[in-house]
Amino acid sequence: MNCYLCSNSSHSKIQDRVRDRDDISVLKCRSCGLVFLDKKDHIDESFYEQGGMGKSFKLDNITSATDYSDTQKRFKLYNKFFSKKRILDFGCGQGSLLRKIKMSGIPAELFALEPNKNHQKTLKKEFTVYSCIDEIPDESLDVITLFHVLEHIEDPVSVLNLLYPKLAKKGKLIIEVPSSNDALLHLYGCEAFAEFTYWSCHLYLFDPETLRALLEKTVFKINCIKQYQRYSLANHLHWLAKAKPAGHIEWSFMDDEILQAQYEKKLAEIGQCDSLVAIVEK
Ligand SMILES: [Zn+2]
Repeated sequence: MNCYLCSNSSHSKIQDRVRDRDDISVLKCRSCGLVFLDKKDHIDESFYEQGGMGKSFKLDNITSATDYSDTQKRFKLYNKFFSKKRILDFGCGQGSLLRKIKMSGIPAELFALEPNKNHQKTLKKEFTVYSCIDEIPDESLDVITLFHVLEHIEDPVSVLNLLYPKLAKKGKLIIEVPSSNDALLHLYGCEAFAEFTYWSCHLYLFDPETLRALLEKTVFKINCIKQYQRYSLANHLHWLAKAKPAGHIEWSFMDDEILQAQYEKKLAEIGQCDSLVAIVEK
């Protein structure tokens, strides 16, 4: 199997299964470092339409608490880009970020792109909803956000290039993806986390170099690529003590804004945050 980014055929196996499938291995390209699954054909167009991601992820109360905290943080980080803009959240799920922007009173036009048919029904009550990129009129948007979307897509370069004409001049993409250099893997060597984090839906995992290489293959201009820590120190301590997810909820009494900011700063310095953010422009 050749690497999606550099076409090299030499890779190492870093995990011989993923959390929901014994027959899928995780590989790492020996040339560019891209982390990818050895199978992709389990994800087709209908997979996300039918809510396939939810079926392999059964942590509902934790998922919704995580969605809430993700939404608060994303709004705080990116609301400076939202005022008087036409904003589309690509793969918006239930639409928490769009709803947060709406409730904040920021003047903005809000659009949703979500393949999941169930989510579409609810979203249509509040937003303009697209089920695929083809439905979006050209130059009709100023900002497109893609939070934890790119790693699910078989050909992310093509999808990003399809979004380019949908943006007006100087339009932006805000992209967040999980990082393949997560401290739980590379610093702490937490085996339970490795068994949990590799998942059949994440076809690729990027580091800053492979994310840059991917974005350089698109027609966009790269504005920045940054380290970003999505999960809290409590989540990490819980993994190390209990070998289980959801520490950010179970031990949320440990939350402290200053402590978290310092922890994120330190992880960013050593390049081992759990996520990466890229902003690219037309
Ligand atoms: Zn490669």
